[in-house]
Amino acid sequence: MSGAEKNDEAYMRLALEEAATAGAEGEVPIGAVVVCDGEVVARAHNSRETDADPSAHAEFSAMVAAARELGRWRLTGCTVYVTLEPCLMCAGLMVNARVDRCVYGAADPKGGALGTLFDVSHDPRLNHAFEVTPGVLADESAELLRGFFRERRAARRSSRQTS
Ligand SMILES: [Zn+2]
Repeated sequence: MSGAEKNDEAYMRLALEEAATAGAEGEVPIGAVVVCDGEVVARAHNSRETDADPSAHAEFSAMVAAARELGRWRLTGCTVYVTLEPCLMCAGLMVNARVDRCVYGAADPKGGALGTLFDVSHDPRLNHAFEVTPGVLADESAELLRGFFRERRAARRSSRQTS
């Protein structure tokens, strides 16, 4: 494994920690970190329910926080690590923020916009292209999601039985 790959896994572990925090809060467990010049400048997790905000996806919140931290809207030089393949909104923000790279864990067959359903990272009609590294710690990311939905289904079943 190259040094760069090792770093990708280390940063993805931080994103997975964020995902676990989201799960503990009753949110779909997705986490993200933004790294600029080798430093973590922001980390965030999905908080759609808590914030009642349809834009509160992990990587969206992390990019907004990173821009505030860096004091610039352009995230040139930044890599976004996120446990699940970004949706159209988040991949769109990556284009608008001019990120250098996105590294994601599990692919999302229901909404993935960096290679699965769409690929906005290299669309010649858009004014920015960026590098994508898929599948980093994908099994861990997918297992967190599966576990969350399994528990939620079980909880629904038992609440139906008692009511
Ligand atoms: Zn999203």
